[in-house]
Amino acid sequence: MNTGDGVLGFCGLYCGGCTYYQNTMKGIKTKVDENLYTECLGCNSGTTTPWCSDCQIKNCNREKGIRYCLECSTFPCEILNYFMNDEKYPYHKEVPENMKRLQEIGLNKWIEEQDSKYTCKKCGEKFDWFENQCKHCE
Ligand SMILES: [Zn+2]
Repeated sequence: MNTGDGVLGFCGLYCGGCTYYQNTMKGIKTKVDENLYTECLGCNSGTTTPWCSDCQIKNCNREKGIRYCLECSTFPCEILNYFMNDEKYPYHKEVPENMKRLQEIGLNKWIEEQDSKYTCKKCGEKFDWFENQCKHCE
């Protein structure tokens, strides 16, 4: 399934590194709690988790008519700075680099590169933003 630029987060995250996205690609809905099973095909797709469908960063980009924060004249703004420095999500720190890289190499190459970053070289399984290595091979 090619989800196109759906996997490019407006914040510069690669949605393919998310467990919800990875499960959805396998046809699995992810349990959040007893009442909520959710799926996601990426930030800019029509299918997102409830919290990603109402994202402040996404809404801001759409209002400004831009596709990711680096295209904004006020980059990095207060909203993005807060997001990048959120200690609960250490991988958020990578978003400025991600966006610079995207500008350099273009979307298709960027998706390939990101996908390879989150794919185990040994077994081919995906791992997510929080993991530095494959849990299947450890
Ligand atoms: Zn592996």
